Amino acid sequence: MTPSDLAALEQQAIALDAADPLASFRDEFLIPRQGDGSEQAYFCGNSLGLQPRAVRQALLDELDEWRDLAVEGHFRGKHPWMPYHAFVRDDLAAITGALPSEVVAMNSLTANLHLMMVSFYRPTSERHAILIEKSAFPSDHYAVDSQIRFHGFDPATSKIELDGDESGGAISQDAILRAIEEHGSRIALVLLPGVQYLSGQAFDLFAITQAAHARGCRVGFDLAHAVGNLPLALHDSGCDFAVWCSYKYLNSGPGAVAGCFVHERHARSDLPRFAGWWGHDQSTRFEMGPRFHATPGADGWQLSNPPILALAPLRASLEVFRRAGMTALREKSIALTGWFETLIHRHLAKVLDITTPRETERRGCQLSLRVRGPREAGRSLYDHLHASGIVVDWREPDVIRAAPTPLYNRRIDCLRFVRAVADWSAPRA
Ligand SMILES: *Cc1c(COP(=O)(O)O)cnc(C)c1O
Repeated sequence: MTPSDLAALEQQAIALDAADPLASFRDEFLIPRQGDGSEQAYFCGNSLGLQPRAVRQALLDELDEWRDLAVEGHFRGKHPWMPYHAFVRDDLAAITGALPSEVVAMNSLTANLHLMMVSFYRPTSERHAILIEKSAFPSDHYAVDSQIRFHGFDPATSKIELDGDESGGAISQDAILRAIEEHGSRIALVLLPGVQYLSGQAFDLFAITQAAHARGCRVGFDLAHAVGNLPLALHDSGCDFAVWCSYKYLNSGPGAVAGCFVHERHARSDLPRFAGWWGHDQSTRFEMGPRFHATPGADGWQLSNPPILALAPLRASLEVFRRAGMTALREKSIALTGWFETLIHRHLAKVLDITTPRETERRGCQLSLRVRGPREAGRSLYDHLHASGIVVDWREPDVIRAAPTPLYNRRIDCLRFVRAVADWSAPRA
């Protein structure tokens, strides 16, 4: 990369950022700073999204309501706590392409995955397997293994693992459909991601659901890396359930309250589940009767009254998404990640291999980058980026994940990354 290449790219980046209709959303976030006081280039929104400015006030409001109203805060104040989870329902439904009655904010991702498997993984001696991808997030493997064992089966025979069959590690649609076709009669549940956390690959939820349902399997999706990243159409996909966390692309803070989707066709109170009083029929909940009667819809899986101080950031953050709109965000995301990809391809091909699928419909904003050369080179590049105020993450043995998120990342951030990698590799060339 020559100095004149750089100057031209910098002008292009500045012009594209200035023409970005969503540019002002960056000002709604608190951008972390590095040692010298300048802003970091933050590419870890796939791990922990940045703090929306509105979150602090949203939290202070609830502290004030608690101070001033105490128990009355359940019914009074700006956002009464009794129906508080309902304040995020419409925004969650819009982001996930669901009916409002199909979504609920509760618990954490892995806890919700367990609750969903209690209802939708009902193994029999003939049909007891779970189809999952081999490189699934460890927590998903642990949850699946423990559910299989809980029902008296053995993961060695009841867990079917899909391995990547494409050069970058992605799983082809063919491989997924073949596995469902081949093992369908013994699969109780197909559990796949919306976007794979390591490779950044996006999956076709509709096609997978169609194929799995045709073979009589239930289908659930882990949307940890998909929600807030891709526009989703959960209702139309027809899947039985989905779960996600809210601290990644949804920017709702560390350990934020997670989410859950249950398709409308399961809005019945006779479905087996682990129950708690907050899932009880809302019209009679406070009669405090001894017998559980589930409220229809996703709300019927709630266990406890929700943590208001943890829901307040989610409410504030979803409001930002509502104003930006998932369609506009996706449009920017495709352009931003595409621009980033082109730069890496043109200027860093000797250093980095992009392992995320090239087709825009098969990925979200994240690019997974394999560092060429020995593992120590990758570590040293990662350390150099870190020292330059460029926040990415490192996955053993040789992968750097960088996720330009359309709410707060700019072309100029991507260029900063490219320049830092070029500087690092120059003396080695
Ligand atoms: C981030 C992530 C998790 C984390 O689980 P928590 O229960 O939120 O701690 C689980 N699964 C996947 C696929 C993830 O990406």
